[in-house]
Amino acid sequence: MTKKKIILLGATGSVGVQALDVIAAHPEQFELVGFAFGKNIEKAREIIQAFSPKIVVAAQESSQVTLAKAFPDVELHVGNEGLITLARTEGYDILLNAIVGSVGLPPTIEAVQLGRDIALANKETLVVAGYTIMAEAARTGSKILPVDSEHAAIFQVLQGVAKSDVRSLTITASGGSFRDKTHEELVDVTLEDALAHPNWTMGAKITLDSATMVNKGLEVIEAHHLFGIPYDDIHVVLHRESVVHSMVTLKDGAVLAQLGATDMREPIQYALSYPRHLTMHHETPFDLTEIGALHFEKMDLVRFPMLDLAYRVGKLGGGYPAVYNAANEIANQAFQDGKITFLEIEQLITRAVFEHMEFDGQTLHQILASDERTRQKVSQWVEDLTQ
Ligand code: NDP
Ligand code: MG
Repeated sequence: MTKKKIILLGATGSVGVQALDVIAAHPEQFELVGFAFGKNIEKAREIIQAFSPKIVVAAQESSQVTLAKAFPDVELHVGNEGLITLARTEGYDILLNAIVGSVGLPPTIEAVQLGRDIALANKETLVVAGYTIMAEAARTGSKILPVDSEHAAIFQVLQGVAKSDVRSLTITASGGSFRDKTHEELVDVTLEDALAHPNWTMGAKITLDSATMVNKGLEVIEAHHLFGIPYDDIHVVLHRESVVHSMVTLKDGAVLAQLGATDMREPIQYALSYPRHLTMHHETPFDLTEIGALHFEKMDLVRFPMLDLAYRVGKLGGGYPAVYNAANEIANQAFQDGKITFLEIEQLITRAVFEHMEFDGQTLHQILASDERTRQKVSQWVEDLTQ
C-alpha cells in the first residue's frame, strides 16, 4: 500500500504538533515529506530528526542557515517564497495548512492551482479568498478537506447527502473564555484571562479569537465557502460542552450531528485519511453518560457584536471579509503585545469595516490590496492608541 505523502505548513504550532502525532501513529499510512515553521527552530530540529523530511521552510533566514549546517541533506528554503516552493514540490499527496493568519494564503492558492488536495486548518485563507480558492479547486479537482472541528463535523455528516437536500447548517460555539461575562465586564480583562479557554487547548491567536467571538465569525464565512450555503442558512448556537461539533438540518427536518471529544487529532486525522476513518491511538475518553446533559442557547448578537459583523461582511462580500480578518489579525496581535485593551480589538475591527467604503473590488488582486491597506491603517490606529 502506498503511503500518503504530506506537506505540513505550521508544523511547530498547536495543530501542527497534533498532526505530527497523527502521522507518527500511522507510519504505514502517512509520510511527512516536507514542512514549514515560523520561529521555533528547536522544535523544527526535533521534527527533522524524527521524520527525516526532504524539504523544510523556515520563516527566518537565520534559522535556514543554522539548519543547513546541521542537516546538509535537507533542502532548505526561507520566507513566503519558500512556502510557494514547498507548495510546488513534486511528489506529495496532501498539503496540511496549519499556519496561522493570511500568510497561509499564497501557498494554498498555489497548491490548489496545481490540483493538490488541501487539509485546511488555516481558516483565514478561506475568509480572505474563499471564492477564488473554491472556484480554482472546482476547476482543478483539488479537494479542500476541512480541519476546523465544526467544518470537519459538517463535512462528515454530509458524506452521501445531496447538497440540494440541505436546509441549513448549525455551527456550535463554546462561547470562549468570557462567555459568562457581560459586555461591560470585558473592560479590564487581561490576556491571561482571555487565553484560558474552557474547552480547547489551541494557539494563542485562535484562543483570543474565541474570546472575542471573531473565531465563530470567521467560521461562518469559512462554512459559507466550503459548503456553498447562503449566510441566512448558517446558524450559530452556544453549546457549552463542545460535544456536538456541528449539525446539518435536511429539508425533511432530520438533523444530523457529529459528536466527539474535544480533541483536534480527530478532525486532523480524518482530513488526512479521508475517506477512511482510521483507528485513533491514545484516544481521549468520551462517555456521554459521564457528560450527562448537553445545553444549547441562542447566540446574543448584541453581547457578541463580532459575530454579527461577520455575517454583515460575509453578505457584503468583495474585500469586506478580508478587511474584517486583516483588522482582527493586527488588533489580536496588538492585544497580545499589551498595546491595546480587549474591547479595543472589536472597536478597531468595526472601524476598519465601516471605513472600507471605497469601490469594493472583487478580484483577488483588489481584495489583497484591501487586506494590505487595512493592516497599515489598523497598525497606525494601534500606534495612536499607545501614544
Ligand atoms: P499556532 O500559533 O499554535 O501555530 C501557528 C504555526 O504557524 C506555527 O507552527 C508557527 O511557527 C507557524 N507560522 C507562523 N507564521 C509563519 C510564517 N510566516 N511562515 C511559516 N510558518 C509560520 O496556531 P494554531 O495551530 O492554533 O492554529 C493554526 C491555524 O489553525 C489557525 O488558522 C487556526 O485558526 C486554525 N485552527 C486551529 C485550531 C486549534 O485547535 N489550534 C482549531 C481549528 C482551527 P512557530 O511556532 O515556529 O513560530
Ligand atoms: Mg473551530
